[in-house]
Amino acid sequence: MTIARPPITYGHHIYGRSTTGPSNETFVRNSPMSADVVSVYANGTSSDVDLASNAARVAFDEGQWPRMRGSERAQILLRWASLIRDNQEALAALEVEETGKTIRFAREDAIGMAELTAYAASLAYEMHGDSFSNLGERHSAVVHREAIGVVGLIVPWNFPGLIYCQKVPFALAAGNSVIVKPSEFTSGTALYLTRLAEEAGVPAGVINVVTGAGPVVGQSLVAHPDVDMISFTGSTAVGRKVLEQAAAAPKRVHVELGSKAANIVFADADLEDALDGTLFGVFFNQGECCVSGARLLVQDSIADEFVTALVARTKALRVGNPRDEKTDIGALIHRDHMVNVLKHVAEGQSAGAQLLIGGGPQEVVGFPDGAFMQLTILDQVHEDMNVFQQEIFGPVLVITRFTDEEEAIRLANASSYGLANAVWTRDVDRAITVPRRLKSGTVYVNTQIDGAVQLPFGGYKGSGFGREMGKLGLEEFTQTKSVMYHLGKRQPYFVSKEV
Ligand code: NAD
Repeated sequence: MTIARPPITYGHHIYGRSTTGPSNETFVRNSPMSADVVSVYANGTSSDVDLASNAARVAFDEGQWPRMRGSERAQILLRWASLIRDNQEALAALEVEETGKTIRFAREDAIGMAELTAYAASLAYEMHGDSFSNLGERHSAVVHREAIGVVGLIVPWNFPGLIYCQKVPFALAAGNSVIVKPSEFTSGTALYLTRLAEEAGVPAGVINVVTGAGPVVGQSLVAHPDVDMISFTGSTAVGRKVLEQAAAAPKRVHVELGSKAANIVFADADLEDALDGTLFGVFFNQGECCVSGARLLVQDSIADEFVTALVARTKALRVGNPRDEKTDIGALIHRDHMVNVLKHVAEGQSAGAQLLIGGGPQEVVGFPDGAFMQLTILDQVHEDMNVFQQEIFGPVLVITRFTDEEEAIRLANASSYGLANAVWTRDVDRAITVPRRLKSGTVYVNTQIDGAVQLPFGGYKGSGFGREMGKLGLEEFTQTKSVMYHLGKRQPYFVSKEV
């Protein structure tokens, strides 16, 4: 499959067909690099969610997908993974145009999508329950692990393809049908991946995609009586609304929310590695990454030297045209978001933080209307400042100094979030004991924004609950059924008089 030249027009994807739905309305996505229209999408309504939910319901209640052997589902998912790999360039190009991320990293994302899908295929073989033969002579029991049914998947804009693949192949491996609601800024990859899935053999109706506004399509999906579960990734503010709405049903919900990860550099670290990791941790994907190491906690004995080197290295990074292979950092998702990020920086300065570098828009030749921002570092940040506590979701590093291990741990945990943290040290004990005391679902030691499809991923505290990837990534989309057997002729329950 190849992609057309922009602007590309897309419909929803319902029961294997592209449709603009009953309303026939559209909305556009403007390039984050320029004001040009890159995509035209069907503007979803609750009627489109009705159609998609019905398609998914029929596929689950009557279709072949949940009735196949796990091994058959695995073969189809493996074919899908292989098609994703074959379409790496097209997927990467789509993501560059809609997200503003750089082509180099967009290619890596596409490989990640294939890897997630192939791993989910392996779990389709491994979906099993349990059995109990220790219940006495007259009883036996089995625990079946079953699909949930119809799952609504709500996806953000920062890694549209990767997060789709952290959810959809896993839900499918378990036998579910899904309705995906991609971000209105980056819906292209979800539609492209879904077409590849059907080319690989996923039956029509098993994956449906409805595009449009969150408060319309997202809300209708959460409220829909035919949707048995919601898996949401996005901001904590919207996650809270999703939880409230799901509680009213009530229905099962899994939420992956915001973060403000600490990147702790101890004086005994390999400082060259720590510098490189700190830069990558905060500026990768323009800082629009849920696990961004946006808070640098640095030990005061090395802080001055480390921060001076960090500023020098930041100046050497290339912010610019995301289509250029040599660019390190591309455009933010849109100009309104950039304005918001810059407001956080100004507010931090008013609260007493010291601006070391950046703090404004970045001019990029040939892209006068792009959402390009200077890489920004704020020093002298205290834990009671908003810039320490709030997720800014842009290329902004805030620096706080600490004296000893206790203080580093206390500062790292002084956050309402708990998605990830990183530790840089060469002390073996510290590399083991500090991660144990950090309150987050992931800890990186002498590395940053790292991981593997086998490792479960998710939040502590305000970063949400539930897990994606790893074996738990499949279990998240399943429920258990305990079946108790009585063996042989049973004794009466009641001791009644003879009749
Ligand atoms: P967002 O919360 O604004 O939107 C996420 C999705 O929810 C979008 O598809 C949006 O259209 C939809 N939505 C909006 N309002 C809705 C409503 N009322 N009901 C249902 N759905 C609704 O988030 P975003 O700006 O797209 O993404 C950035 C956020 O996502 C950041 O906070 C980031 O930390 C978080 N994130 C978290 C993870 C994680 O794994 N924890 C991963 C990536 C991004």
